[in-house]
Amino acid sequence: MIILKNAQNAKAEIVDIKIDKGVIVEIGKLSEPGIDCTGLVVLPGFVDVHTHLREPGFEASETVLTGSRSAAAGGYTAVLSMANTAPVSDTAELVEEVYELGLAAGYVDVQPIGAVTKGLLGKELSAITEMASSKANVKVFSDDGVCVFDEKLMEQALVAVKKFGGVIAQHAQDPTLTPGAQMNEGALATELGLTGWPAEAEEKIIERDALLAQKTGSRLHVCHLTTAGAVDVVRWAKSRALT
Ligand SMILES: [Zn+2]
Repeated sequence: MIILKNAQNAKAEIVDIKIDKGVIVEIGKLSEPGIDCTGLVVLPGFVDVHTHLREPGFEASETVLTGSRSAAAGGYTAVLSMANTAPVSDTAELVEEVYELGLAAGYVDVQPIGAVTKGLLGKELSAITEMASSKANVKVFSDDGVCVFDEKLMEQALVAVKKFGGVIAQHAQDPTLTPGAQMNEGALATELGLTGWPAEAEEKIIERDALLAQKTGSRLHVCHLTTAGAVDVVRWAKSRALT
């Protein structure tokens, strides 16, 4: 039994919290003594839907163990890890490997994200159904830093995840408008002599995907929403009750 005293909750109220075998059993003013949390804030566990645990393949940068330890230290209880590992997490075996590493680390729930296309190459759908029904129970699919640009593939991916209530997380960036781009397009980019990313590169992919989400009745998540116009497109999609 753990009792937290004088902690500030998300509503800025000062409360005591009783935890029994990992379960919160009482919140209020308790008479028992406990750990004094004066000046500390207590919140539900955070979930980070976009992390890079880099394993397998890039262990020099991060591993599932080091990444999930940092997550736990920052108040996170679950992280979703992106598929741009080497090899790419595009099969049931590979996502299970990441999932098992998360279990072995034992700090937070590590939920692998599966690649939408094989090798993140945008040519062929990956084993979406197999990853979903694997031990890793993958529900989110993304090509991470690469846009699923082929419209037909994107539609097939949305159809595939709909069967189990999954989500496609899209890196919305038309690659034909952004070769060699370094910063947002505008007067400053021109002044610095850098190649700009036009806002339309992001907005037109979100528009297209919103229409595909409407057509398929499937769920879409937009990673990296960065322009005012993109916010307008998402607002429009939400006004039509698209998921
Ligand atoms: Zn990323």
